[in-house]
Order: sequence, then structure tokens, then C-alpha cells
Amino acid sequence: MSFQAADLPASFAHKMQRQLGNAFPDFVNSLSQPAPVSIRLNPWKKNRYTQLASIPWASQGRYLAERPVFTLDPFFHAGSYYVQEASSMFLEQALRQCVDLHKPLHVLDLCAAPGGKSTHMISLLNNESLLVTNEVIRSRAAILAENIQKWGCHNVAVTNNDPEDFQRLPGFFDVIVVDAPCSGEGLFRKDPEAMREWSDDNVVLCSRRQRRILSDIWPSLKENGILVYSTCTYNPEENEENLAWLKQEHDVEFLKLRLDPSWGNIVEAEQGGIVGYHFYPHLVQGEGFFISVIRKNESSDMMRIKNSKAGFQSPIKKIQEQVQSWIVDPDALAFIQRDDLVQFLPADKVAEVELLSKNLRLIMAGTFAATVKNNKIIPEHALALSTQLNREAFPSLALNPDDALHYLRRETLQIPTSHTGFTLMCHEDIPLGWGNVLPNRINNLYPAEWRIRMSL
Ligand code: SAM
Repeated sequence: MSFQAADLPASFAHKMQRQLGNAFPDFVNSLSQPAPVSIRLNPWKKNRYTQLASIPWASQGRYLAERPVFTLDPFFHAGSYYVQEASSMFLEQALRQCVDLHKPLHVLDLCAAPGGKSTHMISLLNNESLLVTNEVIRSRAAILAENIQKWGCHNVAVTNNDPEDFQRLPGFFDVIVVDAPCSGEGLFRKDPEAMREWSDDNVVLCSRRQRRILSDIWPSLKENGILVYSTCTYNPEENEENLAWLKQEHDVEFLKLRLDPSWGNIVEAEQGGIVGYHFYPHLVQGEGFFISVIRKNESSDMMRIKNSKAGFQSPIKKIQEQVQSWIVDPDALAFIQRDDLVQFLPADKVAEVELLSKNLRLIMAGTFAATVKNNKIIPEHALALSTQLNREAFPSLALNPDDALHYLRRETLQIPTSHTGFTLMCHEDIPLGWGNVLPNRINNLYPAEWRIRMSL
């Protein structure tokens, strides 16, 4: 589609003309170009896309020449990669350049669904760090939990809270990422609906909401902690003006990032001590995006983390031993049982997770490993996708591309097998989930709510 300035909301076009000056026609022209297609690889999982062109600011980012039907790719469902817009992967530079990623950190992704930035961050953090990934809208929090499970890590907790609830955890976080809900101007090319919904009033509404989110979350950031603020919109009301307001309210320092000329023209906005970075589609191979990195220089009340033995229950010995045998490195993990669900998390993060469960609506912590039903220990789907799975503990069944899709649609499979019992269903040696092989059929254990609904 060929795009004209007249196709844009008039007030938006007017503001962009003022913001971009002579480059405005290039910006409008870029909206007629196809949006680049990009993914981010899971560093712990087998992948078929490693050879593609790299996104220069993101170590695992790759551009695809065209958009495949991701839903019909078993690697997508296995968590081998995450489909993510390229500009937003610049978060990696913010973290690598401003945070010591070798330290054990408490990191919060406050506005996290569907999980692009969370799956990215968990790939950058070390094993001693804990990522709390939060989404206020319940249905979106479920999608977030699904994507986190597919990524396969266990040093993560998923919560479903309003930003103000985090005031119960003063000074808890070393890093907070606020990828704020915004007016979405940077997505007009990919998502025409965002353009139809745009209005001046909505920009004002978004800007107010963003300030509320920032002031609600501020107490839970440690002194010297790092706040990353990002939006996928261009206007100053939701970007620079919010940051100027934050600077007025608090003692903060804006951190500058090193920009490599080979990355394209990322526009540094610096005014009155505020620094932020704009991504425009006519200047970089990505969509519209804004990001700023802020250090909190003022003191903060600090939450004390007590190592209590109360709270979480361990499974009985027989169950724990069985589940441990399914895991590659069980010694570094704590196993807990809540009702009939057994899960594991890093042994040195139990106190933190207990604290989260007492103060927040905790949807998931660590990895779900098994369900105990009628004295039977049934492996959980998340275990099949976990980087901790001991593949030797289960037989595997290799599925061809057609069978892999039948499996992901939760259909009944008729494949001859030489064994019975819980079996890892794999495609090209990457686990997709479980099947229970019976003498005459295979019970498909793929989660009903995750199944592919699209017709083949
Ligand atoms: N960070 C996500 C990613 O990379 O996949 C995208 C986040 S999206 C830009 C903003 C998120 O903020 C949405 O999931 C939305 O539901 C959530 N949100 C909406 N209103 C909110 C509020 N008042 N406080 C916190 N989050 C909110």
C-alpha cells in the first residue's frame, strides 16, 4: 500500500512534521515499506534460524526475509525463538551498558505481557538473578506465563498485579523495566488499528497513566537502581515530558548509551539533563520505539528478606526423588508442592519467592514439574520445555512435520512405538510436550488451551 501524509490522522501528521522537519516525507514513505520481520533466538534451545542476518544491537536477534506462518512452525511452539520487533530488542544495549549483569539481581518487568522483553531479559541475566515478570490484565498474564514456560527458564516469577501493589516491596529491585502502555504511534505500519485508535486525547490519557505507573513503582527501586522506561510511540508527551516530570519529582540521573554507527541512525534526544533514544522506521530497520535509562540517586526504604522455613511445603521424599530424577541438575534447586502441583525454583531464591507470594498475586514461580494424582506422578508440560529436563529420563518419539502439527493441535496420533508410558514428543530433536503411550493409542497431553486452532 502506498502511504500519503493525508492518510495519517491530521494532528499526528502535523506533530510529526514539526518533530522531524525535512525528514517527514521520508518517514511517511517508510510507512509504505513492508515492516521488517524479526525474531529473537532462545540461546538454550536448538534452532533452525541461526544463519539469518543479525540484528546488530541484539546478540540473538535475526531478520527474516519474509513472514512465515509462525503458528505452523513447531519450533515456534517449542520456544526456540520469540517473534519480536527489532527496535524493541535495543533493551539489550540498555542492560549490557548500564547494569552489571554478572551480579545476582532482582529485576522487574512491570508491563510484561506478552513477554517479549521478559524472555529477552531472562536470556541476558545470570542464573543467580530473579526476574519478576508482571502483567496487570489477568488474561494477558496467562499468555505471559505461557510464553515464559516455553522459554524454559526457572529463575522467574510471574505476577498479576497493579503497579501500586509493588509498594509492598520497598527497595526490592535492582532493575525495573517499564515498557509502558502507550498510544502506539510506532506501530502504525504493522498495526493499522493503532492508527484508527489514535487521538490527541488518547495521548494525554496515556501520558497521565504513564506518570501514575512511574510514581507507583518508584519506591520499589533500590537506591542506585536502574529504571528503563520505553514506549513504542514518538510524541514528547509520553516520552521526554514524562521523563522531565520524573526528574522534577526525584533525584535521578539519565544514562547515555554508546551508539554504533553500523546500527543505523538512532536519534539521541538530550535536553535539560534528560536523555532518551528514538527509533524511526526511515532511519533504522525496525519500528518506532523510544527508550531511556535512568539511575535512582535518592535513598529508598529497603525490604528485609527473611529466610523463613515456614510457608512453602516440600513434596514427600518419594515424589521429590522421582521428580529430581527428571532433572539435570537438581542439587541447585528447591522443590515445593502446592496442592497437587510440584514445582522447582533456584534453591537460593525460595525466600524471595515466599515474599512475592505473600505480597502479590503470584501466578507462577520457577517451573511446574509434575502433578500428583491418585498416587501417580505426571510430568507437567512446562517440564518438557524446560532447560532443566533430563532427556535420558524419558523415551522420545520423533514426529515428522505433519505429525508434529497434529500433536500441537492436540489430535490423536497413531504412530507405532516400542514402549509405553510418558514419552517426550519431539520434532527434529526438540521437545514439544508429552504423550502417554498406551498399548493401542497415544494420549495427547498437549495443553488444551495452548493448542493450534488454525486449520491446516
Ligand atoms: N513489554 C511487553 C513485551 O515486550 O512483550 C509489551 C508491553 S505493552 C507495551 C504494555 C502492557 O502494559 C500491556 O500488556 C498492558 O496490558 C499493560 N498495561 C495496561 N495498563 C496498565 C497499567 N495501568 N499499569 C501497568 N500495566 C498496564
